[in-house]
Amino acid sequence: MEIWRCGSQQSSKAGTENFTGSVRVDPLFATGNPVRIRGNLITFEPGARTAWHSHPIGQTLIVTAGCGLVQRWGGPLEEIRPGDVVWFPAGEKHWHGARPTTAMSHISIAEPMDGKSADWYEHVSDEQYLGR
Ligand code: MN
Repeated sequence: MEIWRCGSQQSSKAGTENFTGSVRVDPLFATGNPVRIRGNLITFEPGARTAWHSHPIGQTLIVTAGCGLVQRWGGPLEEIRPGDVVWFPAGEKHWHGARPTTAMSHISIAEPMDGKSADWYEHVSDEQYLGR
């Protein structure tokens, strides 16, 4: 058994090359061999979002606070709220983030393939983000 104690893992700020706006990452768990699954709590300030990206083995999001937006490539903007669970299959291009005026937090669960947990593409433009 392992207990990751609250306060034992440092928060960090997500980099601007793959995110727009202010995004905080709080690591939750990162297990070792053979299990590779990793969990992070991600907090997006209003207007903040990921760039377009995909995950080699997929990703599950569990919304824990606030009100956010999610979109897969070619799909509609979807509002997500606490308790919603979102699954992106392997390779599906998508983004996730806060609403323009409301922050959003979600737990992200994913596992890397060959050490990589995401492939990153272009930023989400304001037109895409606002659904125009
Ligand atoms: Mn994702």
